[in-house]
Amino acid sequence: MKKIDEILEELELQIMGANCKVFYTEDEKNSILNYYKQVLHALFLDKRDKVLEIFHELSNLKIFQNIPYSIFFNEIEFIKNKVANKVLLERNANKLFELFELFREIENSIAKIFLSSYSQELINKNVLRIRAIEIFKEKKIIKYYEQHLDWLNDLAFSIHNFDTNLFPQTNSKLCEFGKWLDSDGKMTISNNSQYATLTLAHDKLHQLSSRIKSHMSSKNKIEYMLILSMLQKCEYLSIDIGIELSFIKSSEYMQKAHYDTLTKLLNRNYLDDIYENEFRLAKLTDKTFSIAMCDLDHFKVINDTYGHESGDIVLKSFASFLKATLRETDYIIRYGGEEFIIIFPLTPIENGIKLLERFRVNLENFNIQIATKKINITASFGIIEVDPSHADRYEFNIENSIRKVDQKLYLAKTNGRNRIES
Ligand code: GH3
Ligand code: MG
Ligand code: MG
Repeated sequence: MKKIDEILEELELQIMGANCKVFYTEDEKNSILNYYKQVLHALFLDKRDKVLEIFHELSNLKIFQNIPYSIFFNEIEFIKNKVANKVLLERNANKLFELFELFREIENSIAKIFLSSYSQELINKNVLRIRAIEIFKEKKIIKYYEQHLDWLNDLAFSIHNFDTNLFPQTNSKLCEFGKWLDSDGKMTISNNSQYATLTLAHDKLHQLSSRIKSHMSSKNKIEYMLILSMLQKCEYLSIDIGIELSFIKSSEYMQKAHYDTLTKLLNRNYLDDIYENEFRLAKLTDKTFSIAMCDLDHFKVINDTYGHESGDIVLKSFASFLKATLRETDYIIRYGGEEFIIIFPLTPIENGIKLLERFRVNLENFNIQIATKKINITASFGIIEVDPSHADRYEFNIENSIRKVDQKLYLAKTNGRNRIES
């Protein structure tokens, strides 16, 4: 039929064309177009059951191809509108009403199929995320996030099985994470705006879960698309919570005697803890983070020229300048005499380099007062990106990462100093 070919051509050009390169191979696109051809034939012949059957097959194919529901939904809407246009020309109001009813049913049953697959996938992903935390013996703030992943898993499980009896706690004050937020969490998170952001995301998450539960328990027709989008939102909020947690410096680092007395920066005994914490969070949130090493240039000359005490003043000034230039969430550790390690949480290397470069340039113009003299210093930097999802789990263990970043620093020194190597 000419009309069908026209619609297919438009569908290919307007809707699938835009997504094609990202989502479909040429073969996949052709096979999907073939399905739509059958759908249109069945629609024009008023074979409702056949239409539904083909859409179900197509849904399974889409899930197999990893196509997001929203992309599929766009295609269905396009088909619906095209067919509705044709019916409109026939001026048949009843038929138009039936068509919209049919598409509501189609969209809802497809959303049900996608919801089932999405909730199962979410459970699998979370099991991996939780396992990733379990391998670390000493858990700090992150263990509370682990409890939240458990909660999210219970939510996905009860949706997957469509059983509200299996539902996790919907009251945000009563889940394990909520109880911690309301008690020890308040003490641990010293920054009020971070605390507010976290509680807000957590409350929203629970409100959503409560809406899902009441929708699942209601006598009305279940709108699977609504549940699917709310569950997806829950996953995003959950990841937001993980990211927010990573930007919280646990008060354990802040309160105890973890500071180097001269520079007031973190001392190297806590490097392992901080590294492990950031590694876990990056893994849980499917992100990377960066670690840099920095060493003052020709520092020995300063000691030799002005004396050791003046050297100390320089180190102190350098440390406070570094702290003031970097972000509050970055960890700065005094690693050795005039060597420092910086951990940039959930920060890709390009951004880490930008931050270091800004500091390096500012440092060139930073005057340090020693007795009656003003002096300037420079520093060299190495930086690497840590990818916790790397297949080889030893590739980015702390020893390897330190070794790699040390090699980069060495390169910066041999390439002329006052520079960054990555
Ligand atoms: P390079 O550019 O290759 O790094 O040269 P450098 O002179 O900075 O490197 P080197 O490692 O030879 O010297 C580091 C000096 O830092 C030697 C040491 O006496 C001094 N230093 C280490 N810790 C302290 C400290 O706490 N206070 C003072 N004043 N000096 C320190
Ligand atoms: Mg040096
Ligand atoms: Mg040195």
